[in-house]
Amino acid sequence: MANVISEWVRCFVCGNKTRLQIRADTELKSFPLYCPKCRQESLIDAKDLLLKNI
Ligand SMILES: [Zn+2]
Repeated sequence: MANVISEWVRCFVCGNKTRLQIRADTELKSFPLYCPKCRQESLIDAKDLLLKNI
């Protein structure tokens, strides 16, 4: 089984780890990222493990 790199997505507001995990091959477009800690939602794009707050 291939070992795929994955990372937990951190909240853009407070820096807390969210429950969202992205992989090296994950692509997200205008994804509403919800943070359980500060209860904020941010729209994000994700590609090649790079995240962008849009
Ligand atoms: Zn947060």
